Amino acid sequence: MTFSVHGLPVARGIAIGRAVLVVSSRIDVAHYFIKPEEVETEIDRVRTARNAVAEELLKLQASVALMGPNDAPHELSALLEVHQMLLQDEALTGGVKHWITERLYNAEWALTTQLEVIARQFDEMEDEYLRERKADLEQVVERLLHRMKGTAAVLAPTPPRKKRAPQDEDDDPTANDAFDAPLVLIAHDLSPADMLQFKKSVFAGFVTDVGGRTSHTAIVARSMDIPAVVGARSASQLVRQDDWVIIDGDAGVVIVDPSPIILAEYGFKQRQGDLERGRLARLRHKPAVTLDGQRIDLLANIEMPEDTVNAVKAGAVGVGLFRSEFLFMGREASARQTRLPDEEEQYQAYKRAVEGMQGMPVTIRTIDVGADKPIDGKPASKQEHLNPALGLRAIRWSLADPAMFLTQLRAILRAAAHGEIHLLIPMLAHASEIRQTLSLIDFARAELDNKGMVHGRVKLGAMIEIPAAALTLKTFLKHFDFLSIGTNDLIQYTLAIDRADEAVAHLYDPAHPAVLRLVADTIAEAQRQGKGVSVCGEMAGDVQFTRLLLGLGLRSFSMHPSQILAVKQEVLRADAGKLAPWAQRVLEADDPAAALLLPL
Ligand code: PEP
Ligand code: MG
Repeated sequence: MTFSVHGLPVARGIAIGRAVLVVSSRIDVAHYFIKPEEVETEIDRVRTARNAVAEELLKLQASVALMGPNDAPHELSALLEVHQMLLQDEALTGGVKHWITERLYNAEWALTTQLEVIARQFDEMEDEYLRERKADLEQVVERLLHRMKGTAAVLAPTPPRKKRAPQDEDDDPTANDAFDAPLVLIAHDLSPADMLQFKKSVFAGFVTDVGGRTSHTAIVARSMDIPAVVGARSASQLVRQDDWVIIDGDAGVVIVDPSPIILAEYGFKQRQGDLERGRLARLRHKPAVTLDGQRIDLLANIEMPEDTVNAVKAGAVGVGLFRSEFLFMGREASARQTRLPDEEEQYQAYKRAVEGMQGMPVTIRTIDVGADKPIDGKPASKQEHLNPALGLRAIRWSLADPAMFLTQLRAILRAAAHGEIHLLIPMLAHASEIRQTLSLIDFARAELDNKGMVHGRVKLGAMIEIPAAALTLKTFLKHFDFLSIGTNDLIQYTLAIDRADEAVAHLYDPAHPAVLRLVADTIAEAQRQGKGVSVCGEMAGDVQFTRLLLGLGLRSFSMHPSQILAVKQEVLRADAGKLAPWAQRVLEADDPAAALLLPL
């Protein structure tokens, strides 16, 4: 039966494919694709864990048999018997084998997937006793997962299969063999680190139950340029493994088990989108200049050095934001790597980014973990869990761990010997933080000099993403060469709306007069003082705001490579001179969102 689930649109386009559910178990498990030649090894890992758990249960049964009825009730022994049966049950073992062999899931992913499949069958049972066996199955799987911890292979996110998009209106993609069909990922939640892992994989679209438009999970999804919907509430409960799903990333709708008519309609929409992209691609080599001759810098936001390939392809004139924290995330999944990258590893990564941009400038932002970007997928401490967005995040985190921060600074300064690097500091609010940061940068330079290591000059910039910073610009402009406005956080902190919380997503409003006032004042003040200023939050890549930002005087926009051509199209059609008075009127309006639609 066809039904739909509504959420927030975060990455445009239409995806049609089979659902791959990533279920969250109580144990954190890695999800990755193995290579076909690793299937046997992976099945072996499950077999070894199963034998170990069987032995563990036998030992428990033996010790229970030795106890008296007061120490070990009769039910305990019966329960262990049930666990043994569940452990050997063909539904579990056969299912796990299926996911590993057919889908090339790693063993832990296969186990949690099959657990979810069987758990749903238990949920549907009439018999209460049998229904309650679900909890036992969960315990058995958890035992297995515990046993497998530490035996995982190095991550291998290899694309396991060919993709096949529907060919024409009469082509029913559901007729495909499941192996050839595109896959779409459905999860309750995905951390930015998970997303990064899936970045190199085969998924044609993403849906998560939670998350806001500018949550970091959504940002990474957008950078992958595949349709995504977040905040879809109960999608992961309603969609079943292997269901056919349409993701409409423009409307924020997920259609499950679509009828042939609906499929044909979305197939048509998908092709229209492809045509539009083809049209935009022609703008790639056109300089971004307004009708009245204003040159606009369209820069790229990247997460990994390899993203520079797409940045160059999209015609970016530099990197305006390299979110360096992604180098630090999800590393413990591989046993061979240490937790944080050392100076050499970071230096090599920054150097690759600089080389990838072929002489164009690269803005590297120092690590910004915390809030919805925990370094290992979990909040760092109980304390942080209380209110992570207001906690130890970004520069606060760096200043709390000077050794880690100095390592990063040295790596960036060394990479600057290979090309133009702009060093950007996130989340500054206090003059004391500015002072500490600058003296640590000097210290890092001195350390390199003492060791006789080559390093380069960098331009220094500050993110303006806390209202306190936007209200004390003079202090910032005294110390920095340029400012970069982080609208994602500026909106979050100005409006007191958690950007990752779908429950308040309707209040997350980039066009709120207070937000626009802070953005406008920052642009104006930086320009008055002859300093560079850009916007690197999601607002910069949202074509709804291109004209307004141009009218406010912005000449440098940084966004995901996938958004550059659409923004360029807006720039080419704009007359910046005429937009200036109109932008002032929008700024004064009670309802700027409505005023944005007014003619010039
Ligand atoms: C921002 O806050 O707008 C920004 C660009 O930084 P991030 O999204 O990484 O917090
Ligand atoms: Mg930010």
